[in-house]
Amino acid sequence: MKHPRPFLAFSIRRYSKDVSEKTLSKSHQVTSPLNFLLGRRTEAKGPSSFHLIAPATGTKLRDVVNSNEQDVNEAILAARNSYRSWSKWTGFERGKVLKTAADIIRSKVDDLAYTEVLDTGKPIWEARYDILGCADTIEFYGGVAGRIKGDFMQLSGGSFAYTIREPLGVVGGIGAWNFPFQMAAWKSAPALACGNTMVFKPSQVTPLTAVMLGEIYQQAGLPGGCYNVVQGEGETGQILCSHPDIDKVTFTGSVPTGSRIMAACAKDIKHVTLELGGKSPLVIFSDADLDNAVKGAILANFSNQGQVCSNGTRVFVEESVAGEFLAKLIDRVEKMKIGDPYQEDTLIGATISPQQAAIVEDYIGIAKKEGATVVYGGERVTLSDSNCAGGIYLRPCILVNCTDNMRVVKEEIFGPVLSLLTFKSEDEVIARANDSQFGLAGGVFTRDLQRAHRFVAAMEVGSIYVNNYNVYPVGVPFGGYKKSGIGRENGEDSLDYYSQIKSVYFEGGNVDCPY
Ligand code: NDP
Repeated sequence: MKHPRPFLAFSIRRYSKDVSEKTLSKSHQVTSPLNFLLGRRTEAKGPSSFHLIAPATGTKLRDVVNSNEQDVNEAILAARNSYRSWSKWTGFERGKVLKTAADIIRSKVDDLAYTEVLDTGKPIWEARYDILGCADTIEFYGGVAGRIKGDFMQLSGGSFAYTIREPLGVVGGIGAWNFPFQMAAWKSAPALACGNTMVFKPSQVTPLTAVMLGEIYQQAGLPGGCYNVVQGEGETGQILCSHPDIDKVTFTGSVPTGSRIMAACAKDIKHVTLELGGKSPLVIFSDADLDNAVKGAILANFSNQGQVCSNGTRVFVEESVAGEFLAKLIDRVEKMKIGDPYQEDTLIGATISPQQAAIVEDYIGIAKKEGATVVYGGERVTLSDSNCAGGIYLRPCILVNCTDNMRVVKEEIFGPVLSLLTFKSEDEVIARANDSQFGLAGGVFTRDLQRAHRFVAAMEVGSIYVNNYNVYPVGVPFGGYKKSGIGRENGEDSLDYYSQIKSVYFEGGNVDCPY
């Protein structure tokens, strides 16, 4: 998920200076302890650790110590103790803290964005846009916090009932690596707005900015212990999910891990929100504005190096315009600069890790074996800038001659691989678009209003874009159908997943008892 308009962002706000990773690798964020407990950076006890690598350069930044059971216990205890007072603050008071945090984020946008690039290898303007989007999200929940309320029902004979919306308790958050700051912000802001406290585990690949968010919350007046960070690999996440004093787990990641987390939560009947993978369809009818459709297809496939859960990687184009669409698409993609993510005009940065690059390349190989044709890209690009020589830079890949049963068309790749498919009729394409185990998102380009509405009604997905793709305005809920997840993030609907309803019955007369 990401903030709207990534491809416009760099033309809106450019920064003249390019930042060298050398400067940043010495920065406070990288060298300081990376757990966050009771409002302070602390070091996990380990004893094991893992390497933190900067994807842009392939260089090792440091070792990160894994949080063990004791670290997780301490963080949960801190969150439990803080919950007792934080949950008693009024929503308005909690909202003021969140709004202040949003302002601080805006004032630190460069620092946060540079650190996010260090962690992810994404282009700097894109990181900056993600961060500013998070400020908006946190401010949004700051506004919502004061309006969290229950309901009132007048009953007969002077009796009445009302409901109170109460927090759940201590929330465990677990994030993926593609939007690290956003994962921490999108989960913590609604949780804190509702009066919960949180222990968050970022992906091991991207540990840096979740801790910075903790410092920002602290500066904004959030009491120590309300938001804590434990670094670690999957095992740390497992300890967090299985802990009996966690009331809810909110997770973003792959379907297999989501399934394991749901099973772990079932033991104690914990609440769970799952934001999982996708293989979303983007359908382009012959009456569409093809230039806009091409832009939509690029937004749906190639931002953030293709590492976006909602990407529309199955691009269905009506047969009669498929040739023209493809020519326009290649023409535009060819012009996208692949390069050092710290340079403001770079549009495609580094792939997150060698493992992820290997997955993408394997899928391209499988696609070829299954009969697809690479008409553009798919290969590694060697950057002349020696700083970036150790990073992996993949040229966006466009596949044609694809069929619905190919693995590359059915399975999530999580990389810059667009599969072009053609269709003849509306009924046919709707059936094919819905023929997936996933249901995260989908898109349609058409000028026919009635068809657009028919399409929206027919699609089995959590988010659908008409004549655009991958836009995430603050306040609009996000989440999946089918195996793409349970629950919603963003927007007021997410409050349902961070609170519970207490119903209160008040008797206005005598007890009517047949016994
Ligand atoms: P993973 O599922 O591999 O990991 C996600 C997180 O879960 C990581 O922090 C990971 O730790 C942790 N984890 C791994 N095993 C366990 C376990 N048994 N118990 C608890 N936590 C565990 O996903 P990726 O990080 O590779 O992210 C890519 C996936 O995320 C894609 O499928 C993508 O579609 C999905 N995604 C979904 C989004 C949505 O909103 N629907 C948004 C963004 C991504 P570790 O640090 O060891 O990896």
